[in-house]
Amino acid sequence: MRIILFGGPGAGKGTQASAMCARLGIPSVSTGNIIREAISTGSSLGVEFKKYTDKGELVPDSLVIDMLKERIARPDCANGYILDGFPRSIPQAEALDEMGVEIDAVVSLEVSDEAIERRMTGRRVCPKCGESFHLVYNPPKVEMTCDKCGAALVQRSDDKAETVRERLKVYHSQTEPAKAYYEAKGKLKKIDGSGNVEAITALIFEALGL
Ligand code: AMP
Repeated sequence: MRIILFGGPGAGKGTQASAMCARLGIPSVSTGNIIREAISTGSSLGVEFKKYTDKGELVPDSLVIDMLKERIARPDCANGYILDGFPRSIPQAEALDEMGVEIDAVVSLEVSDEAIERRMTGRRVCPKCGESFHLVYNPPKVEMTCDKCGAALVQRSDDKAETVRERLKVYHSQTEPAKAYYEAKGKLKKIDGSGNVEAITALIFEALGL
């Protein structure tokens, strides 16, 4: 099963991807997490990535497409995967087609810009395993500690209000057109992403007929 989780920044893609993986037994592939890992190693590629992420801009398509290609060729992706944060532009969606990747469904988490801005300020993430939490809506069991791996949670540098606004702008101009691309193919499933985490997971599985 190959599923794309689509949605604006902070729409809940990472959280839902993690819930879906646990149930479906397939990995989630987050280009955002791969990019953050590269940044944390301080590699030359990481330094290049940081220039874009810090401004809330997209990393150039060619770089992200190569990274994604390499990731989904690994053995753990053989039975399928959930794409979290890819594609984020029409050229990226076309690249998936050119790779011969058959997508079963595209789940779009629909959340208003206002709700996204509210959510982002409370988001805390695990720098080690990438798990995502929210101080109010999805708190960790132990304060500021990752439920999954025990590392101390942090706030993402691109979750600052100013950067969030830029990311929303980029989402509407560059990423939303890819939604229409999948709608035209009859693959798009729109989900109200404004409720609580468990209720949204249930809506997703219902839409997928699982
Ligand atoms: P995310 O964790 O998915 O919100 O991604 C964080 C940041 O990484 C984004 O704001 C972009 O700068 C970059 N990024 C992640 N995925 C992509 C992608 N598919 N294309 C371009 N840039 C990306």
